[in-house]
Amino acid sequence: MTPALAVHGLTTGYGGAPVLHDVTLEVRPGALVALVGANGAGKTTLLRAASGLLPLAAGAVALAGDDLQGVGVEDRARRGLAHVPEGRGVVVELTVDENLQLGGLTAHRSAGARRAAVEEVYGLFPSLDRRRAALGHQLSGGERQMLAIGRALVARPRVLLLDEPSLGLAPQVVAQIMALLRARCDDGLAVLLAEQNVAAALSVADRGVVLDLGRVVASRPARDLAHDEALRHAYLGF
Ligand code: ATP
Repeated sequence: MTPALAVHGLTTGYGGAPVLHDVTLEVRPGALVALVGANGAGKTTLLRAASGLLPLAAGAVALAGDDLQGVGVEDRARRGLAHVPEGRGVVVELTVDENLQLGGLTAHRSAGARRAAVEEVYGLFPSLDRRRAALGHQLSGGERQMLAIGRALVARPRVLLLDEPSLGLAPQVVAQIMALLRARCDDGLAVLLAEQNVAAALSVADRGVVLDLGRVVASRPARDLAHDEALRHAYLGF
């Protein structure tokens, strides 16, 4: 099966200082891959490189088999690659509904199609449905994270890159978000989930990829990783 997202031999960094070295991974359609590793391991950098925010020094990124070299951030989004950065990326001066509409601007040309996609997202997030007219800054942390994910889903992406969605959220909200991601994957979405909350991420992931100092040190079924005590101690701090 052609992977939804394929990263091959990716090397990159900031201003000549290398951060990622020869990183290779795949996310198949319908799969949830957890990208885990200590602070500074390079998780955020990998998502930024995949979404086109950071140029590659070497290697390649492909979306559904198409090499993305030379394809800009917006065109990647148009082709079905969505990125929810850490810190959530919600426009706090706009309402929930306006944020969701914004998420559909590039993907859906007609207002009708956009509306339909937004309504679909309300179906996934009843808590957003109840708060359509609330401004971003009036939302709780959990609602904001859901809005950020919802905004990405309005575009009906084939691949979702998610950076630390659990950050600062209560365990039951984290569980809700993880369950939602799992359900989206079961409907065919491919998710690459960078998480410090390793247990939560591995509980819903199909595969776990462990980064250490910018290199992949393990790539295994999530259940195996969660039970590998030596690896957990060495790289994941629990
Ligand atoms: P965290 O969970 O803390 O975000 P991470 O695994 O996502 O960690 P990155 O944020 O990708 O790791 O950082 C990897 C390395 O790149 C770190 O050494 C960091 O200091 C460095 N780095 C990150 N962003 C920049 C930047 N804008 N300029 C220079 N160096 C950076």
